[in-house]
Amino acid sequence: MINIAIDGPAGAGKSTIAKAVAKRLGIIYLDTGAMYRSVAYFMLRRGIPVTDEERVAEALGELVMDIRYEDGAQQIYVCGENVTPYLREPHMSKAASDVSALPVVRYKMVELQREFAKTHDVVLDGRDIGTFVLPDANCKFFMTASPEERAKRRHLELVEKGSDCTFEEVLDDINKRDYNDSHRAVAPLKAAEDAVYVDTTHMSVEEVIERVTDIVREKNK
Ligand code: C5P
Repeated sequence: MINIAIDGPAGAGKSTIAKAVAKRLGIIYLDTGAMYRSVAYFMLRRGIPVTDEERVAEALGELVMDIRYEDGAQQIYVCGENVTPYLREPHMSKAASDVSALPVVRYKMVELQREFAKTHDVVLDGRDIGTFVLPDANCKFFMTASPEERAKRRHLELVEKGSDCTFEEVLDDINKRDYNDSHRAVAPLKAAEDAVYVDTTHMSVEEVIERVTDIVREKNK
């Protein structure tokens, strides 16, 4: 199986690159951030605070997650409902970051991700794929960019979708999530020792796609 891990902080361009690379290689893309967002959505819908470990753990037993591909796009079904349209709303980002810090949540998601990678050629993007989920992945990348550049990209994306959030709010969210994600006890955000480090601050999307695809092709020759 081809397993490609792309890790890095929020807004580094991981999902854009992972999607494009998967398409070029004719394999599947798994957005693991969307899995944590789905857990957050499920808890919030039930009125469960995402930091309440006991209640989250209890409700997690009822959470059935099914990942499907419809017209090539990943859709996440939680207990039969397609929750994908709700996952990118701004308040879901922080909720996902909070819920993902709970070990009980991580273990459940990591188990699903490992199972998925065992049975599919896949590009996964996340925070801990190369270090924890798939330490034996064929290719690992750690993708980053300056916080300002990442906030600029995220802000543009949100404004294009009709949001009226400010650049400062987005930058603040990115800084908080960076801190949260790199300081949690279980599987914090960090580069695997054998990851290729890609700083995308001054690179175009096309340049990053080329670079990543070339490295993957070289390693899988
Ligand atoms: O990548 P995305 O912004 O959708 O991820 C949402 C949140 O989910 C991140 O801030 C991070 O806390 C968490 N996450 C994680 N491990 C992953 C993917 C995402 O902890 N593999």
